[in-house]
Amino acid sequence: MNGIEERYHTVLSKIYHAAQQANRQPQGITLVAVTKTWPVEVILAAYTAGMRHFGENRAEELAEKRPLVEAKLGPDSGIVWHFIGSLQSRKTNLIADYADVFHALDRVKIANRLSSRLQENGRSLPIFIEVNVSGEASKSGVTLINWEEDTTQREKLRKLWAAVHELPGLSLQGLMTMAPWHVPEAEIRQVFDHAKQLAGWLENELGLKRPLALSMGMTDDYELAIAAGATHIRVGRALFGERH
Ligand SMILES: *Cc1c(COP(=O)(O)O)cnc(C)c1O
Repeated sequence: MNGIEERYHTVLSKIYHAAQQANRQPQGITLVAVTKTWPVEVILAAYTAGMRHFGENRAEELAEKRPLVEAKLGPDSGIVWHFIGSLQSRKTNLIADYADVFHALDRVKIANRLSSRLQENGRSLPIFIEVNVSGEASKSGVTLINWEEDTTQREKLRKLWAAVHELPGLSLQGLMTMAPWHVPEAEIRQVFDHAKQLAGWLENELGLKRPLALSMGMTDDYELAIAAGATHIRVGRALFGERH
């Protein structure tokens, strides 16, 4: 498990260099260590190495691991739990109860359910809206493949944003996206640039003074994502090795 610390430092230095290349502050990039499928011991080793943001993509797995980690480290460990997977409506309570950040909101129905549970709990949940700008049919998220030309696609995002904005307990942060797998680097860059431009359009549309957060980039493409403006990268294999 010593490998974790070494891998962590390699990833940190790549983040640092990618940020420098892009004239950005490395502190402006949050590394979410994706611990899905890994046991609690791996999370504890990652914590010892210095990681504080952890990402899970199955609601039950988050609900199981978080209390186990808290039993070891206490409630004030400084850990932030990110739920990065898509969420079915019957599992919204688990996420309202156990996640600190939700990256993959794509429907108002889920937002409504999260909001009522959060109000019951007196909690609040930072939210990213997941957008599909890559054109891959299988991808989750709000379809924004042709957002530049297609007013309907843009309206759908603007309406979802406005609806979520009204809901107590949900605090909108920005957009999340996934690049397609197994495509040339140039195509991945295009997808990330496309997402960044979409965020720019939305900022303008909403009259925001600060840029929106952008959750994008995984093990194989996080440096490209940083070049395009990612503020949150979600990295698993580069830190923990291949999942089984
Ligand atoms: C698994 C996963 C990641 C991390 O993938 P790696 O290739 O292991 O870095 C990032 N985002 C989401 C949504 C995931 O499900």
